[in-house]
Amino acid sequence: MKPPKFDYHAPVTLDEAIALLVRYDGEAKVLAGGQSLVPLLNFRLARPAALIDLNRIKPLAYIQEHDGQVRFGAMTRQRAIEFSPVVGRRLPLLREATRWVGHLPIRSRGTIGGSIAHADPSAEYPAVLTALDGEVVARGPKGERTLAPGALFETYLTTTLGADEILTEVRLPAMPDGAGWAFEEFARRHGDFAIVGVAAAVWRTGGRLTARLATAGAGGTPQRLHACEEIVERDGLGDGPIEAAARRASELVTPDSDIHASADYRRHLAGVLTERALNRARERSREPS
Ligand SMILES: Cc1cc2nc3c(=O)[nH]c(=O)nc-3n(C[C@H](O)[C@H](O)[C@H](O)COP(=O)(O)OP(=O)(O)OC[C@H]3O[C@@H](n4cnc5c(N)ncnc54)[C@H](O)[C@@H]3O)c2cc1C
Repeated sequence: MKPPKFDYHAPVTLDEAIALLVRYDGEAKVLAGGQSLVPLLNFRLARPAALIDLNRIKPLAYIQEHDGQVRFGAMTRQRAIEFSPVVGRRLPLLREATRWVGHLPIRSRGTIGGSIAHADPSAEYPAVLTALDGEVVARGPKGERTLAPGALFETYLTTTLGADEILTEVRLPAMPDGAGWAFEEFARRHGDFAIVGVAAAVWRTGGRLTARLATAGAGGTPQRLHACEEIVERDGLGDGPIEAAARRASELVTPDSDIHASADYRRHLAGVLTERALNRARERSREPS
């Protein structure tokens, strides 16, 4: 199928792009990598009056270390993230998650901002953003605001971004030296969206253990598993606490049934994948040097 007719604009500055969004008064959509939006247009599930293409706004693509964070311009391609030495060193969880995103041609076009703004509950980046307590920056006609994942993700494919706002930057705290990590996922075929995924990270600072866990595909938004983190932080990374955290994960998530899997199966997967992710994160963790 072909998309319905739309106006096309390719601004070269962010201000110009925002002005166009304002001009179309909620009837325009921004185009990033097009890997989700173009299929939606072709299936006529989206019928915007205009597309505002962000691909010519060069200052929107970068990876920078800044004050203990790694900052990504929204138009940074998933492939650039996958092969970035900074990401490999400072955010290995994000690198591992990236390898689960579709296939290489999709990652060559798809962007970090597009993935997060699209808010597919099965997507990997929103889960990593949630696990690592990251934040995003959004800019609109009234200025800039910074949102934590809990304030951004509303429900399936829905965020709190305004129709005249553009997600400009994604900020993730760099993982501490010696941190262990794992992104575990179950999908029917490699490259498919996750049926369920779990992002995990563990590290020690001054003898204190910190654990981070978040799900993909186990509800309408990524879910941070605080109660599981508390079990591990209190009782350590032995087999017993990891098994207890995994059992708790199955209880905590609130998935829906759909054509891919029942809610019960997703709950089961949340437990299995939490255990696997914590085990692998434990194996990779070491005392900070
Ligand atoms: C076959 C296939 C398999 C895939 N598998 C996976 C997978 O396993 N995991 C996964 O996570 N993804 C997967 N994807 C999706 C892919 O990661 C997309 O790249 C991503 O979901 C959207 O990013 P994009 O840059 O292509 O955004 P687009 O498709 O251009 O945009 C998506 C939506 O976000 C909005 N948007 C984009 N950028 C911004 C911005 N900066 N500010 C505000 N709104 C914005 C758009 O208006 C649109 O509504 C798959 C895609 C395909 C085609």
